[in-house]
This record gives sequence, structure tokens and C-alpha cells, in this order.
Amino acid sequence: MNHPYKKNVVIIGGGPAGLGAALMLVKRGWTEITVLEKRPSADYYEPDKSFSYQIDGRGQKLTYLLELTPKLADLSVPNTDFYFTIIQKDGTRKTIKLPIADSKRKTAYWLPRAAFVDLFYQEITQHWQDSIQVLFQTECVEIKQNQDNLEIITQSRDKQQLTLTPTLVVGCDGLNSIVRQTLHQWQQGTSDSFVMQQFPSPSTGLRYKVLTLPPQFPLSETAGDLAQSTMAYGIRSTFKGRQKAISLGLLPFKNPDQPRTANIITYPDHEIWQLEATAEVEQFLKQAFPQLPLEKILSPEEIARFTSSDGGKFPIPQYCSGLHQIWGQPQDNQGTGVILLGDAAHCFPPDIGQGVNSALEDVYLLHEILAETQDNLSEALPRYESLRQPDIKALIRLVQISYPWQYNQDPLQKKLWSVNFFLRLLLSRGFPLLFNPHSFILIQNHELSYSEILAKSNGTTKALGILAGLAILTFAILFGYFRYY
Ligand SMILES: Cc1cc2nc3c(=O)[nH]c(=O)nc-3n(C[C@H](O)[C@H](O)[C@H](O)COP(=O)(O)OP(=O)(O)OC[C@H]3O[C@@H](n4cnc5c(N)ncnc54)[C@H](O)[C@@H]3O)c2cc1C
Repeated sequence: MNHPYKKNVVIIGGGPAGLGAALMLVKRGWTEITVLEKRPSADYYEPDKSFSYQIDGRGQKLTYLLELTPKLADLSVPNTDFYFTIIQKDGTRKTIKLPIADSKRKTAYWLPRAAFVDLFYQEITQHWQDSIQVLFQTECVEIKQNQDNLEIITQSRDKQQLTLTPTLVVGCDGLNSIVRQTLHQWQQGTSDSFVMQQFPSPSTGLRYKVLTLPPQFPLSETAGDLAQSTMAYGIRSTFKGRQKAISLGLLPFKNPDQPRTANIITYPDHEIWQLEATAEVEQFLKQAFPQLPLEKILSPEEIARFTSSDGGKFPIPQYCSGLHQIWGQPQDNQGTGVILLGDAAHCFPPDIGQGVNSALEDVYLLHEILAETQDNLSEALPRYESLRQPDIKALIRLVQISYPWQYNQDPLQKKLWSVNFFLRLLLSRGFPLLFNPHSFILIQNHELSYSEILAKSNGTTKALGILAGLAILTFAILFGYFRYY
């Protein structure tokens, strides 16, 4: 059936959520979809944003719908083949296979962000060019209200302006979303539903920088001793102490010809952020990693680029409770509906690898709700908000508690976390009706919603509290008994 209103969409942001939403809508029969993306291309390489994604069962709900999971698997390293080599300061190495805590877990796939975004973009160019146009180097600079319609003002790199008047605006423009900020301005202090509510986490504020290394770079002076692209590495430095110790973290890539990226994650007061001259950085890296033949790995240009880069900061966990707004009657083509998806509505540090997966799940849930409401936006958008809100809230709490201590900020806290993790694992195996594994494991089960995971985690915390209380009581009774006699 031809629906007159299933057309005329503007998606702001061509990242995973934006291109995923475009493909989801086109699959549902929507047409005239325009994606605005300020970057130059889908696979644009930005060294400091060249992190790897692990697309898990949750994210794969969308890739399955789009029939892209086999292509995703082709481009990726599966988590079932995740091998990690630790290279110590003296060059000794140990390779371990990452344990699979839950054998029933769906295989997850590791690939670089650019490769994932390009997978979606290639699908658009190969099959959907008639219905979706992606405008690169085009930024949404303003959103205006005009009676019951919204006007999207765009500007291209050559300063050409264009005004679009869509039926549906999808805000997929990341943490600093112009869509969310505009919705907030229009509230004029009457509500703060489009303001990001922020929650503390021990990993917030950590700074990161990325070194780009050649594909299959040499690991030592020995001929043929090369890094394997599908292997993850943790390369430790000779330095000690929180302001000097450093580590290179490399995640696996399927493509052996692609440059490797080494993440450096540190405290904001780490020495590396004080180094301003290229020669200082070069000397620091050579002293830190004598086990690596750095002169064969790092070009002077890469050291200069690395020195001048400001890197990035892990964001504070945050979300906004408002996820939609409607003007007029979009289902009669006389109004505009706005929805926020992905980082535009929820954003947090990468501790649990759910940034991209939760964004893809947002898109998948919107698909399910559009299917239930026959794509009637006036019904679908409020229903999306009421269904997704509790899960987003739970997700942000899970980010705070699941594994924020993994970056070695505090050895004692990391040890306490490990004790808690293994205690829950053991008890859940012995008494599965009373205890659940740690939320870090539960998150890998894509069949559980974030709210269900948080409820199970809180339930186990309560049960542990009762167990500890009973242990103390038993001890006190026994102690009193023996003292009396
Ligand atoms: C260092 C780091 C490591 C991470 N690691 C992981 C990880 O391991 N696993 C994981 O799941 N997640 C990770 N994330 C988070 C993940 O990248 C995000 O959650 C995910 O990209 C969200 O996708 P999105 O499409 O909602 O937003 P984004 O990826 O931010 O995409 C938004 C897009 O909108 C464009 N845009 C913004 N404003 C405008 C505008 N006005 N006009 C036009 N275009 C615009 C931007 O150029 C961008 O392409 C990491 C994040 C960081 C910073």
C-alpha cells in the first residue's frame, strides 16, 4: 500500500545511528530520505576517532533486519577468535584467548568504526540510491519553526545553504546534537527534558590519544617478527607510576593492509599531555617502549601529528529523558515529528562497549514500533519514548557500575571489582535461582533489556547483602555462645 506520509525524512548525522535509521526506514517503504553528514565521507579516517566497535547480539538485531550480518561477519574478527598478546617491557610475550564467559552468547564482531559506517553506506549506494541521498560535507546549522512544520537549514562546505521541510526529523547527530539543543531552547525553561542529565563515573575524564602504526609493523629487530592484524596487543612501558606509566592497546582488524591504531588512555595529569615538542614525544616513546623498534614503526610525520593532537576525553554518562516532539499532524503531511537516537540521547565512556550497540538497538526498537503503529508518527514517537526511556536510564546506571575501573585508575578498586565479579560468578553457578552473574556478563545477553539486567544486578546485590548479614549474625551468635560457656 502506498502511504502518502511515509516520505520526506531528514536524518541529521551519518554515523552508525543515522545511516542505520535511513536503511531501516527505506526497508519499511519510506522514501525521499536525506542524510546530512558534516564529515567528508563514510569511511573518513580520523586518527583520534579510529576506535574499534564490537557489534554484539544487541547491535545485530538491526544488521539482521537489514540482511547485513553476513557482510558484517566478512569484514570483522569474531570474538570467538579474539587472541590477546601482552608484550612486557623486556619484550617477553604471552598470548591468551579471551575467555567466553557465556557460551550461549551470540558471536560478536570486531571492526573499525570507519569500516562499519562504510558497510551501511555501501548498502545505500548499491541498493537504495533512489530513496536515500547522503549529503557529505553538509552540516545542519539551524532548525526553525514555521507554523506546524520545521525547517532544516543546511550549509555545505562551499557555503551553499539549503532549506528542507521534512515530515520526520531524526536527530542522530551525536553528543553535541543541534537537534536536542534546539528542542531544549524552544522549551524556554518550561521543562528540562532535553537537557542531558549527568551521572559520575570513575572513567569519566580519562584522556586518550591514538597512534597510527603501519599494517603488520615489526615487533622486534628479528626479521619476519611482525604484528598480526587479527591479534589484539597490550604493550607495556618501562615507566611506573600513574603520571608516567603507559600502555599501547591495539584491537584486532580483519584487513591485513589497514594501518593499526594504538590507543593510549591516561589520567588527565599524565606526563604525555605536557609534552609539546615532537622531539620530546619521540624521546618519551623510545624510553617507554625499548622492546619495540620504534624508528621502523613511527614516521616523523606520525610523531608530529600525534604531538599536535589534543586527543579526546571519555564523556560523563548522560542521557535526556525527552526523546521526541511532534508539531501538527505529520501523518497527514501537515506537521513534523522529531526523534532522537543514539549518542544524541545517551552517551557514556566506552567501558562496556554499548555505545554503538545501544544506538543500533534504538533504531531497531523504532522499527518495531513503526510496524505496530503502521508508521503513524503521532502514535509511534510517544510510544517509542515511553518504552525506551526506562532502558536508557538503566543503561546509564549499568555504565556506572559495570566496569569503570578497567583502566587501572586505582589498583585497590580494581581488585575489589574482581572479588565482586568472581563472587557473583561462583554463586550464580551454584545457586542460579538466587544469584546472577555480574552485570558486565549479563550485558552480553542481548535477549535481556537493560532494565532487566539492572534488576537482576540489583537483586543479586540485595541477596549478597542478606548473605553477609546472615554470616555476621551467625558469627556473633557462635562467638557469644562459646564465650558464655
Ligand atoms: C574513544 C571512544 C571509544 C569508543 N569506543 C566504543 C566501543 O568500543 N564500543 C562502542 O560500542 N562504542 C564506543 N564508543 C561510542 C560510540 O562511538 C558511539 O556511541 C556511537 O558512535 C554512537 O553513534 P551515533 O551515530 O549515535 O553518533 P556518532 O557516531 O557520534 O555520529 C554522529 C554523526 O553526526 C555528525 N554530525 C554531528 N552534528 C552534525 C550536524 N550539525 N550536521 C551534520 N552532521 C552532524 C557527526 O559528524 C557524526 O558523523 C566510543 C566513543 C569514544 C569517544
